[in-house]
Amino acid sequence: MRRIRIFDTTLRDGEQAAGGALTFDEKLEIARQLERLGVDCIEAGFPATSPGDFRAVEAVCEFVKDCQVAALSDAKLPNIETTAKALMKAKAPRLHTVLSTSDIHLNYQLRITRDHALDMAVAAVKLGRSFLPEVEFSAMDAARSDREYLCRVFEATIAAGATVINIPDSVGYMQPHEFADLVAYVMSHVPNIDKAKVSVHCHNDLGLATALSLAAVREGAEWVECTVNGVGERAGNAALEEIVMAIKTRADAFDCETGIKTEQLWRTSRMVASYMGFPVQLNKAIVGGNAFAHASGLHQDGMLKDRITYEIMTPDSIGRTDSRLVISKHSGRNAFRDRLKALGYELDDDEFMRAFRAFKEIADKKKDVTDGDVEAVVADQVLVVAETFRLDRLQVSCGEPSIPTATVLITVADGTVMQDAATGSGPVEAACNAIDRIVNLPIKLVEFTVHSASSGSDAIGEVSVKVESAAEGTFVGRGASTDIIVASARAYLNAINKVVTAGREREAGHGRRAAPFAVLASPAVNA
Ligand code: MN
Repeated sequence: MRRIRIFDTTLRDGEQAAGGALTFDEKLEIARQLERLGVDCIEAGFPATSPGDFRAVEAVCEFVKDCQVAALSDAKLPNIETTAKALMKAKAPRLHTVLSTSDIHLNYQLRITRDHALDMAVAAVKLGRSFLPEVEFSAMDAARSDREYLCRVFEATIAAGATVINIPDSVGYMQPHEFADLVAYVMSHVPNIDKAKVSVHCHNDLGLATALSLAAVREGAEWVECTVNGVGERAGNAALEEIVMAIKTRADAFDCETGIKTEQLWRTSRMVASYMGFPVQLNKAIVGGNAFAHASGLHQDGMLKDRITYEIMTPDSIGRTDSRLVISKHSGRNAFRDRLKALGYELDDDEFMRAFRAFKEIADKKKDVTDGDVEAVVADQVLVVAETFRLDRLQVSCGEPSIPTATVLITVADGTVMQDAATGSGPVEAACNAIDRIVNLPIKLVEFTVHSASSGSDAIGEVSVKVESAAEGTFVGRGASTDIIVASARAYLNAINKVVTAGREREAGHGRRAAPFAVLASPAVNA
């Protein structure tokens, strides 16, 4: 069977999504999970945009051993050099350079001629190849480009050393039959196409990103670029889990396979949703909360008789088990460690001890501890941000009629203990206001979501907040507790601690918000 290669761009195109924000540690953790998932290439970032991105790409390169690591660059030569530097430590690096080929982009955005663009693309690929053996060239807005010119650019970039050519529908404009036709056209009209691999990159503006990618696979495209949960610019990218499960479930229609360990899909999806602060819609294909829930009586009847009646794939196949944790508060470390292992977690000793203590605390308050609860606890205990501020006590009073009031006691990293109180329109706002009085940072709470990690009235509440700091950008904070006011205060402080850490990193010269350090176009190509 033909092997389809999965190029994951969650950390690059995905992170470009409006309101998307990942810390350095979160990027590394996601990269680690993508490697476990079995993707063929991880696009880790756009190193020339900020020292923070550069550092993150470098770290992913050092970390990841089992798959390729790519980094994006525009066609400006100094940026190609910066990108190649960021990739130096990768075991299998891929430099991904991009330049528009559509007249719309050339005339209205770049204001250069077709010939000039072709020269720039060739120069970028050549320079890339002087550093690295694997260079991918993407023809931005290929879908709206003149086909004859597009093929000329691909021919020239392959001749210049491009080992992968990518045909993107950057604006999500195409229909599946048109895109299939475009891919077939490129494959039959670029004379040296046999010297490069063909890749596609589709966006979801019309809800067709997965359909477009699969149409391209059927035409012979080997590489598919996609993101977990379909996160990305505007309406997002093609969703990795949809492409992979379509190919797996309908092997008869595609006659190809991917190397993805599908049992890791559910966990990967949850991790990305939680770290990015983008909840997955309930009815989302494959990874939505309701994706395997059968509600109608007729369907339930069929399912009870034989699951094949209404189930084309099983929740188990994406690693979604609703099994109950068999260990209780009386169980020991080994049982807990086994459960974590079954869920796919490998924690270091420190992380494990923190998670174990948190588990004991939960088991004291809850009768049934589910896998969902364990995941919430673990998510709360790994990737601990430097705790500049730690919540030690929280007390609220609320009700109807009453004035919601919160008192907090916070320990600062230097040992100072601070205490304050505030009112609000509800207990959560009161708690945040009280924290604000102590922390005193210019930040704004822009999003607040609560969801329960399991079912039942004693479920753990997982709170995700998004805060915006003018100086440092957007940060997602998370907190979990059986008490949602406590979870909220923890989430808010978690985000605040990230803002403080980012400020420190920026002052040290590697923050993600510092000015780009290679923004000038090369005089050679910009003449
Ligand atoms: Mn894109």
